[in-house]
Amino acid sequence: MHDADIKACEEVIKMATVAESKWEIKVPDKPLKDKVYFENLKSVVIDTEICSRCLTCASVCPGGITVVGDKVDFPDYETKCLDCGACVRVCPRFVYEPLSGMGPSTAFIAGRSKRFAGQDGAMVTELIVSAMEMGIIDRGLFAGRNENWETEMFHVRDPEQLAITTLSGTKYTFADVLPELKKAVKFTKNGVGVVGTPCIVSGVRKLQQEYPIFREKIKLVVGLFCTENFHYSAISQYLRDKGVDFSKLVKTDITMGKFIATMTDNEVKFKVKALEEILPSGCNVCCDFTAVEADVSVGSVGSVPGFSTISVREPIAQKILDYIKKQGYAEFGEGDPGQLGFLVGHKKKRAENLKK
Ligand SMILES: Cc1cc2nc3c(=O)[nH]c(=O)nc-3n(C[C@H](O)[C@H](O)[C@H](O)COP(=O)(O)OP(=O)(O)OC[C@H]3O[C@@H](n4cnc5c(N)ncnc54)[C@H](O)[C@@H]3O)c2cc1C
Ligand code: SF4
Ligand code: SF4
Ligand code: SF4
Repeated sequence: MHDADIKACEEVIKMATVAESKWEIKVPDKPLKDKVYFENLKSVVIDTEICSRCLTCASVCPGGITVVGDKVDFPDYETKCLDCGACVRVCPRFVYEPLSGMGPSTAFIAGRSKRFAGQDGAMVTELIVSAMEMGIIDRGLFAGRNENWETEMFHVRDPEQLAITTLSGTKYTFADVLPELKKAVKFTKNGVGVVGTPCIVSGVRKLQQEYPIFREKIKLVVGLFCTENFHYSAISQYLRDKGVDFSKLVKTDITMGKFIATMTDNEVKFKVKALEEILPSGCNVCCDFTAVEADVSVGSVGSVPGFSTISVREPIAQKILDYIKKQGYAEFGEGDPGQLGFLVGHKKKRAENLKK
């Protein structure tokens, strides 16, 4: 292990100790009494294939939980698992009570940024940048991508960094948001804004529940509506087989039941249902479409094309939207929550898959 890794491990253990002494949190009971905690995580979440690949566990594990192939694993756990229990304490699926529905929305609107271009109305980018301008956060975590469309995490600290156009927009592959969030909370002075799919948002809330540093430093949690996501190896192969040339790919989108890959000179379109064969098992048991635990959730369904649908839940999000309105940074319209009914219902039904 490198010195930096050892130091990071020590910090996590220290954080875990502080968290325990401050709130007297007990790690969950081990279903497998004689096994180390990783074996419990493995038997309850990983081997049962309900793991969402949110990487909340990896973000706090001082031993070495990682992704091997497409699976979360800890190859050397027999010698390296410290049996600290941090992984089971933060895993949103160790004691899995699926969330669903719309969450406690206080406003439901449509918006389009006048300053930025994005997947829909670029309101995710607008919310993060405006929070930065207001001094609420000093960095926002973005899932960008490389030329092969593999996700790469970026800490945006200045709106000018958004000249890198690959930072905004949707990537239908998992991003390592939570391991990066640990770095962000370490370096931030004011606070961090984080963006993620509902499973990532649940991971953020677990980290905040367990560790004071995440509670203190994370100031804005933006959720993305999500029906499914994919492992990079599977979706990239699938798209190549369909004729997608990654060197020319500029946008991917799922809309009206179709997956659309837009290239500079061509478009590949097919029914999204065809992707069921590569749907990750963790998504197949996921019931949360709107990221009900986020401060504010953003998606494309529920507004006209070119606009982002915004479901506001916490006052901090409303405050940022009021600032955006006052500055004239975006135009707003009405959102239609009724349009979400089908997808919310579709995801809720996935609870049935848990029994299987
Ligand atoms: C995997 C996935 C599935 C989705 N499914 C649906 C759906 O079924 N229905 C629907 O209405 N909306 C869905 N969305 C949301 C939608 O695609 C847009 O992200 C949303 O409308 C925001 O658009 P925007 O223009 O406001 O965002 P932008 O301003 O373009 O910002 C996009 C933000 O998303 C982040 N991001 C992109 N890809 C990922 C990723 N893989 N993981 C974490 N963060 C990422 C970027 O870092 C950026 O901060 C999905 C998003 C994702 C990532
Ligand atoms: S018990 Fe601790 S060291 Fe072992 S896998 Fe879990 S988090 Fe890592
Ligand atoms: S669901 Fe998330 S926290 Fe739980 S094992 Fe999988 S990656 Fe780790
Ligand atoms: S469907 Fe979306 S929120 Fe649910 S596990 Fe998959 S990526 Fe995460």
